[in-house]
Amino acid sequence: MTSPRPAVTAATRVFAVLGRPVGHSLSPDLHGAALEARGLDAVYVALNCGDDEIGGLLRGLALAGGGGNVTVPHKARAAAAVDRTTPEVERTGACNTFWARDGEVWGDNTDVAGFRGAVAALLPGGVAGGRVALVGAGGAARAALAGLVDDGAGEVVVVNRSRERAQALVDEMGAGRARVGGGLDALQGLDLDLVVQATSIGLSDGDPLPVDLDGPARVGAVLDLVYGPSGTPLVRAARARGLPAADGREMLVLQGAAAFRRWFGDPVPLDAMRSALSLRGP
Ligand code: NAP
Repeated sequence: MTSPRPAVTAATRVFAVLGRPVGHSLSPDLHGAALEARGLDAVYVALNCGDDEIGGLLRGLALAGGGGNVTVPHKARAAAAVDRTTPEVERTGACNTFWARDGEVWGDNTDVAGFRGAVAALLPGGVAGGRVALVGAGGAARAALAGLVDDGAGEVVVVNRSRERAQALVDEMGAGRARVGGGLDALQGLDLDLVVQATSIGLSDGDPLPVDLDGPARVGAVLDLVYGPSGTPLVRAARARGLPAADGREMLVLQGAAAFRRWFGDPVPLDAMRSALSLRGP
C-alpha cells in the first residue's frame, strides 16, 4: 500500500506575501487556488514582518527558489532591496512582486497591469481621451496614475486629503496629463468618464463615502480599488445610482495573475483565482 504524497516535500518552493498587517490578505487564497489548479509543488503563505526584516526576507525567499508579493507598508523598501527592477517599479517607486533569476533578485509592480485590466473590464471602450478623477495619492494611486497615463487618459484630476501629496504625485508621474483638483470635495460640477477611488476609506462597512457621487455633473463609472468580503459602500452607492461600478477584486486577481506568470509562466489559472475570491465575496 502506498502512502499519500505529503503536502510539503524537501523540493517544495516557498512563496509569501510580506506586510504589516498581513493577516487579512486574500493573496494566500488567490495563489493557493492557482497552485492547486496547476498542480505545482509550492506553498504561498502570509508573513507579518517589520521594516528591518523586509529586505533580507524577500532576498532569502527569492534566492532559495521562491518569491512572493509585498504589501503595505513595505513596497518602497522592497523596491530598494531588489537587484533589478522593471520599468513599472522605476516609475512608481514601488515593488509588489519579487523572484530570482540567475542569482539576481528581480522586482516588478504588477499593480499597474492589474489596474489597467480592471479598467478594461469595467469600461470596454477604455479611458483614452477621457476625463478621470483619481481620489487618493498613496501607493495604489501611483499604480493607477501610471496605468491611466499608459492608457492615454485625456485628463486626470487628482484629489486627496493631503493636497501636497497630490501635487507631488502629479509633478512626479502626471506626464502632462494630470492636475490637482484639491480636497476630497473638489469634484463638484465636473464631467467625469471614470472615478477611481484609491484611498483606504471603505475597508470597514461603517466608513463614510470617500466621494460624493452627486457632486460631479456626470459620472460614467466607478472603480474602487478597496475590496472587502461584503463589497464597498462606494460601489453600492454607485450601483444604486445605476452606474457601472466594481471594487478592487478584479485588480487584485489581475495583479496576482501577472505575479504568478513571473514565477511559473503560463498558463495562469484565472478561473481558479477568481473563484477563490468570489467565495469570500458578496
Ligand atoms: P497608502 O499608500 O497608505 O495611501 C492611503 C491613501 O488614503 C492616501 O491617499 C491617504 O490620504 C488616504 N486616506 C487614508 N485615510 C484617510 C481618511 N481618513 N480620509 C481621507 N483620506 C484618507 O495606501 P495604498 O497602498 O495606496 O492603499 C490604498 C487602498 O488601496 C487600500 O485599501 C488597499 O487595500 C487598496 N489597494 C488595492 C489593490 C488591489 O489590487 N485592488 C492594490 C493596492 C492597494 P493622505 O495622503 O492625505 O494621507
